[in-house]
Amino acid sequence: MKYADIIIDISHERLDKTFEYIVPTELEQQVFEGVQVVIPFGKGDRAITGYVVAVHDKPSFDVTKLKPIARVVKDSIAIESQLISLAAFLKRNYGSTMNQALKTVIPIKKKENEKLKKEISLNISLDQAKIELTELLTKKNHAMGKERLFKELLEIDVLDWELATKKLQIPSANIRDLEKKGIIKVESVRTFRNPHLNKDAKAKQIILNEQQEAAAEQIKADIDTGRRKTYLIHGVTGSGKTEVYMDVMEHVINMGQQVIVLIPEIALTYQTVMRFYTRFGDRVSILNSRMSPGERFDQFERAKAGEISIMVGPRSALFTPFAKLGLIIIDEEHESSYKSEVIPRYHARETAVYRASLAGATVILGSATPSLEAYSRAKSGEYQLINLNSRAMGQDMAKCEIVDLREELQSGNRSMISRRLMELMADRLEKHQQIMLFLNRRGLMGFVSCRACGHVLKCPHCDVSLHLHKDGTMKCHYCGYTTKAAKVCPSCGSKYIGSFKAGTQRLEEIVKQTFPQARVLRMDADTTKGKDGHEEILSAFAAHEADVLIGTQMIVKGHDFANVTLVGIIAADISLNESDYHSGERTFQLLTQAVGRAGRGTEPGVAVIQTYQPENYAVVTAAAQDYDSFYQQEFAYRRLLSYPPCSHILGIQVTCDKQQDAVAQADILANLIKKNDSEIVIMGPEDAYFAKLKDVYRRVIYLKDDDYDRLVRVKDIVDKFLLEQKQYRNTTTWFDFDPIGTL
Ligand code: ADP
Ligand code: ZN
Ligand code: ZN
Repeated sequence: MKYADIIIDISHERLDKTFEYIVPTELEQQVFEGVQVVIPFGKGDRAITGYVVAVHDKPSFDVTKLKPIARVVKDSIAIESQLISLAAFLKRNYGSTMNQALKTVIPIKKKENEKLKKEISLNISLDQAKIELTELLTKKNHAMGKERLFKELLEIDVLDWELATKKLQIPSANIRDLEKKGIIKVESVRTFRNPHLNKDAKAKQIILNEQQEAAAEQIKADIDTGRRKTYLIHGVTGSGKTEVYMDVMEHVINMGQQVIVLIPEIALTYQTVMRFYTRFGDRVSILNSRMSPGERFDQFERAKAGEISIMVGPRSALFTPFAKLGLIIIDEEHESSYKSEVIPRYHARETAVYRASLAGATVILGSATPSLEAYSRAKSGEYQLINLNSRAMGQDMAKCEIVDLREELQSGNRSMISRRLMELMADRLEKHQQIMLFLNRRGLMGFVSCRACGHVLKCPHCDVSLHLHKDGTMKCHYCGYTTKAAKVCPSCGSKYIGSFKAGTQRLEEIVKQTFPQARVLRMDADTTKGKDGHEEILSAFAAHEADVLIGTQMIVKGHDFANVTLVGIIAADISLNESDYHSGERTFQLLTQAVGRAGRGTEPGVAVIQTYQPENYAVVTAAAQDYDSFYQQEFAYRRLLSYPPCSHILGIQVTCDKQQDAVAQADILANLIKKNDSEIVIMGPEDAYFAKLKDVYRRVIYLKDDDYDRLVRVKDIVDKFLLEQKQYRNTTTWFDFDPIGTL
């Protein structure tokens, strides 16, 4: 006999409130997760509908009190069914409870006080506004904020206050001043209106080039003839992938279907968002991580009610409850942010393909540097590969030069900047062109150590080094632990104790010393603390308010600065030396994206890659911008060592605030796995990469196998064991399939 847990109403508040029913034998084949059923409920056995969220062999209650399911609702296409199936998929393939999985796909409704939002719009006609702007521009020291505000409002009809003051950096005094003069009005509203282009502000008319057209036509033809596929658009940086997406999106919307567009949070900039708004207007909604749960919930409700047709957002937008989903797009498909870092640790790519199969939708993945996973599937024919191998307007790709840092050192140059890069920088500054300098954050971190004995000062709660801050304290970036900066080494008493400055900070100093005339901006974790920090810096750079932008990986993702003609990569090796198997791929991606920032406008670009390993395949192929050659070498390496995508890895992490319990429990699980499957490849248990964080000890076990399902079976065995285990209940165990980086 089988038993089913049934949810009566997805009220969004009590997802864990389920009722148990008997599955009649004749219905066994038809009852599984997500299926809509009719059940007798409450006094008088009123017939109501519910959704099956789990099926199991053992009843949890007295069987004599359980009632049977009355019938299965045939051909139910309710969106709830799809989402529950999706939750079951997450639970099965990535490891979690059904409740955790349901909470991932169905947002929780929270009552919150409605916040009023402020909106700015013109209070005069467009023509009058143009005259006002012209007048403003004739004044010598006019407020830049006012100029920006006018320019913005000449383009679009409403502007969100937060956006204006934070992202566009328009001082509120400027806004209030124009309001007093009656030129603009500021209103408080309950919900946003999407901005529209003003009638005479010409939307950039784009006619797809031949390659873009061919790509879009191929996909649209498949859609029209009922073929549902997953496409991988491999397009070089600046090839105009977004225009292809939008062309297909329009086609799908005209068919009365809906579209989800996933974009990495960091690339979800004002410019990108405006591209979607101006093309699709009120049919678009945008999700971002700054929204409150209530705001997200409201957007999902609008989607369900059919008020919008396009949802743009990061990973979680994948669960938008569109009833007629026709297309899912994942831009920058290779980004690691598409893998969830909370349980269930799902990957948006696989989950999107699964959701599309439930909905009968098409999937488009796009990247200049596809993940090994996606590209190998495209090669095997599982995905359809589409190439865009030239830039949208036919601009040349940047020329790339490799500088061997060992030679620099031999010729006596100890600076972070090579002579060649120095020379090119001087040239670009002279020509008033812009420069981007890129240094991986993981480089020289600001940790504190003793020059006499090498002792590194660590956080007492975490297995990580402390960082020196300007205010004379040392901080742990994981738990926030703060203490006064040490004056002497706690290990040997030496007073020669100090910190290595963060690489980007040092680089900034060097650039300022060498080129005192240059206006320099720096963008890294320290300068972007505020919510909109990175947007502010990017806007300023885009407006050519600086000549040099120095930054970490944040600056290389998807930004389009037409005036940048030189990109310098200060130390290409740093990410190569990381210990996990993704380091080659990550280096290639970062270098390619960085090189791709140069020469996107009319002037050709040059990129300089500085490295100690000029012969490394990731460096060489990135410099040549030769993805295929990189792929072949990387794939051979993965196959040799049985790493994904040639094989699969299951990481199991055991955590506990008592070290010996974490160790004991991990050993127990490892033995359990060996007992059940003596042939599976098992590594560990060993300490996690960070053996202790926030006073919690962490042990890991890794399993490797070609067969994903075999790893799923191991997970199920461990899960079952944990459910029944009496000892070590103070430990926590979780799973990570094909983890990115080291656990
Ligand atoms: P990708 O996403 O491939 O990096 P985008 O779609 O962002 O490229 O396009 C890069 C730039 O080229 C954008 O400014 C875009 O407006 C422009 N662009 C794209 N396609 C065309 C086209 N067919 N004609 C003119 N400009 C285009
Ligand atoms: Zn800490
Ligand atoms: Zn010391």
